[in-house]
Amino acid sequence: MSQQLIPNDDFLRHTLNNPTGLSPCEFRLDNGVTVQVWDTGVICFEPATAGDKDIVLSCGVHGNETAPIEICAELVQDILQQKLAPKQRTLVLIGNPAAINGGKREVEENLNRLFSGHHSKGAGLINDERKRALALEQYVTRFYQQAPNGTRKRYLYDLHTAIRGSRFEKFAVYPFLHGKPWQKNQLEFLQACGVSTVLLMQTAASTFSYYASNTHGADAFTIELGKVRPFGQNDMNRFSEVRTSLRALVADAALKTQDFDEANFHLYEVYRSIHKQTQDFKLHFADDVENFTTYPVGTLLATDGDTEYRVEQEGEALIFPNAKVAVGQRAMLMVIPRSVKGQLA
Ligand SMILES: [Zn+2]
Repeated sequence: MSQQLIPNDDFLRHTLNNPTGLSPCEFRLDNGVTVQVWDTGVICFEPATAGDKDIVLSCGVHGNETAPIEICAELVQDILQQKLAPKQRTLVLIGNPAAINGGKREVEENLNRLFSGHHSKGAGLINDERKRALALEQYVTRFYQQAPNGTRKRYLYDLHTAIRGSRFEKFAVYPFLHGKPWQKNQLEFLQACGVSTVLLMQTAASTFSYYASNTHGADAFTIELGKVRPFGQNDMNRFSEVRTSLRALVADAALKTQDFDEANFHLYEVYRSIHKQTQDFKLHFADDVENFTTYPVGTLLATDGDTEYRVEQEGEALIFPNAKVAVGQRAMLMVIPRSVKGQLA
């Protein structure tokens, strides 16, 4: 049955062959799992008896970040071929099929800056990324709202790879919780995924993970799994922990977690966000500097017309530097170490 609807059970290929849309369809696997295709890159799995978790896994929000796309495609194919039996409701999203086909981060606009209604601000729904952001919000809403009654936990793990290398290969962005405590079990889950560097945000954002966290109360993260590489050039062994942990989560199998110990983590908060003010904005370090690089206090980081940016704090580290952003956009984030002692739930 599924062979006719999703050729070779290859939902990624099917999505990329139909980047602008797919007709909804539904079928049931022999193991009782209901499969629903909602759209291109949108597939929902409902076990006959669902557990208490509603899990969203997303990849390809940036089209050239291939490793997460391969991880999710493998997971979906294994479910369709009944090599992996989901015990939790699971929605898998391939964010930006047109950008994936183009081998590009985005076609017109950064999809991960368009959530929480930003897709409709300013000029409105003028391009495909803006329309996709709105549609993805609607699919996530539908998925969480269609859950059975009872006490349930919502999750969204938005998987990425970074443009540049990182002093800590894998790291997660924990969206701003508006004063609510950070979740110890989520830090433990991230560690099981091989992610022990976490950036704790202190402001609202237009990202997919902040949207799921703030709008739906999900435990949600942007997870950066390493450096961007083309399809087929990812060393999948580098992702074995995240693959294993996501599959265990979906299958409700035992997770290899350890009790949280802050000494095993690198936790950071944002110290300041540096925005490009003029066309003269210039970074004063090598183009290929790694995320989380630190320099001595006083080191010149960037100039922007007459403005100089220097390291102000001991341990201040830079992430996501990009001098090519549009004027007015964030060109770099500066972070400092912080503790979560006494602030976990
Ligand atoms: Zn990304």
